[in-house]
Amino acid sequence: MPRLVAEDIAVRFGNFDALKGVNLVAETGSFITLLGPSGCGKTTLLNVIAGFLQPSRGRLFVDGAEITRQSPEVRDSAMCFQSYALFPHLSVADNIAFGPRQKRIGKDETVRRVENLVRQLGLEDHATKLPNALSGGQQQRVALARALAVAPGLVLFDEPLSNLDAKLRDQVRTEIRALQREVGFTAIYVTHDQAEALALSDTVFLLNKGVVEQQGAPREIYFKPRTRFVADFIGAANLHKGELTGGKMVTPFGLLACAQADTGCAEVCWRPEAARIGGNLSGTVSAVAFQGAYVDVFVTAGGETVRLQLPGHLDIAIGDTLAFDVPAEGIVRLEDGPDA
Ligand code: ATP
Repeated sequence: MPRLVAEDIAVRFGNFDALKGVNLVAETGSFITLLGPSGCGKTTLLNVIAGFLQPSRGRLFVDGAEITRQSPEVRDSAMCFQSYALFPHLSVADNIAFGPRQKRIGKDETVRRVENLVRQLGLEDHATKLPNALSGGQQQRVALARALAVAPGLVLFDEPLSNLDAKLRDQVRTEIRALQREVGFTAIYVTHDQAEALALSDTVFLLNKGVVEQQGAPREIYFKPRTRFVADFIGAANLHKGELTGGKMVTPFGLLACAQADTGCAEVCWRPEAARIGGNLSGTVSAVAFQGAYVDVFVTAGGETVRLQLPGHLDIAIGDTLAFDVPAEGIVRLEDGPDA
């Protein structure tokens, strides 16, 4: 399984900089995601890694050897597309066998790979069918099998689950992760869905306007967002801007106490689930959304609203005055990002 390094990758379309010097490392056998809003450059970066697009600057290395100018066919990688891109006139088995045949892999080995993948992806009842006789989830599995049939060291996923409904998406993404462990490949996965990125990845690269704004393990990105953009993009965040004095900030809800005794103008954030009922902060409940296991409670004070995620059994009504608390360790001081 390869280790991929992308060094200072820049891509320019006309006078528009789609990527502005991106550095990325995908460790051997790891699962990394390129996450970010529409237009941030995720697909452009994936296309550079696949060899479909030449960067205007920067270099790519696989296991230390430079591959920047290598054509896609000779790279040890395969792409799994959002659109499935299956051949409509070929059966499921022939779609899967297509890559190995192209690469002139022996007949017996091709049959063995097709049989294995059909079994691993639960397609036993569909091998002789044409793609249009399959559901979206089944077609996505065939597309995955087709990418894996050439036994690539690096598998590139371009939003592969975005055409599936939520339940199926959860199921197929669990299968992709299990398959990665079983078959063994390094995965680079493009998504704009933060929940998907948190659930799947060893490392998340969060892109914003052509740069990596933060990279790290899902927990690190979620609990220690560096900037307002990261805090906002990953999950829900309550933000307060103001003056810190010895780690304390005056907000319309009361005095917020951070873990570090910092001083100066700052922006801090906390997650809705960090809040606890009872304490020295308070406001008026302006909206309540019961979610079963938990309840989203919106609390307003001095024209500002924060969101609290509290246990679902609590009976809270609009108009209530709610006292709450946010533990110091749940409050993160943000740095200025490029958007600040
Ligand atoms: P999405 O989630 O919408 O697919 P993305 O993060 O994958 O977004 P890219 O497709 O990488 O975004 O595009 C990044 C930026 O580069 C966008 O602003 C896009 O309009 C622009 N772009 C992409 N391809 C080209 C091209 N061939 N010519 C000109 N501009 C392009």
